[in-house]
Amino acid sequence: MNDLTEKLESINARIAAACAKVQREPGSVRILAVSKRQTVAAIRELHTAGQVAFAENYVQEALEKHAQLQDLGLEWHFIGPVQSNKTREIAKTFNWVQSVDREKIALRLSQQRPAGTPRLNVCIQVNIDREDQKSGVSPEEVLQLARFTDQLPGLTLRGLMTIPRASNTPDQTVQSFRRAKRLFDQLQVECPAADTLSMGMSADLELAVLAGSTMVRIGTDLFGPRT
Ligand SMILES: *Cc1c(COP(=O)(O)O)cnc(C)c1O
Repeated sequence: MNDLTEKLESINARIAAACAKVQREPGSVRILAVSKRQTVAAIRELHTAGQVAFAENYVQEALEKHAQLQDLGLEWHFIGPVQSNKTREIAKTFNWVQSVDREKIALRLSQQRPAGTPRLNVCIQVNIDREDQKSGVSPEEVLQLARFTDQLPGLTLRGLMTIPRASNTPDQTVQSFRRAKRLFDQLQVECPAADTLSMGMSADLELAVLAGSTMVRIGTDLFGPRT
């Protein structure tokens, strides 16, 4: 077994162990491979190991990789801050955008999604710990932005994405994940089609799964350190 296959199996085992603790099906949590600052060769290798969904944070880097990996038919997720002058390229290239945090961005992504392509899947990014420098809407703004997004013809609202404060203690991270889960439950009442709660990274994926995450975004523990 090669290195990346082993790493993927190890992430799957961590997810399964966390799921077992709370009687969840391991298949109810998807792995999103965060490939920012990782090589095209590594992405190919992880794809050979069975991984299909990859995430990027920087548009220019993503466009270059996308062009070189067209043959694989990967599912591309954008997870970085969205600048309005980049929405056209993002709407053209990606299958998902997890970092929608204002109406203007949602509207532009919808309008610029090329005709004849499936709707762009989007998540609203929520700034769950109300950090000044972090992207995302505040918790009380989630439902309003969700309603706006849900009626746009070019988009399908899939759920919420969140990144807790990096300096949190594990206990604080659990609290943040639980608050995000409660927001997600409220969102699902209004938008039953929203099926994705994207939370958990290399260091805290177990805590996220225990709290109800349906998608963990893993970079370092899949690929190794970023270049
Ligand atoms: C980089 C990044 C990740 C992956 O982080 P790791 O700690 O390397 O697993 C996940 N989500 C977002 C939004 C990121 O920017």
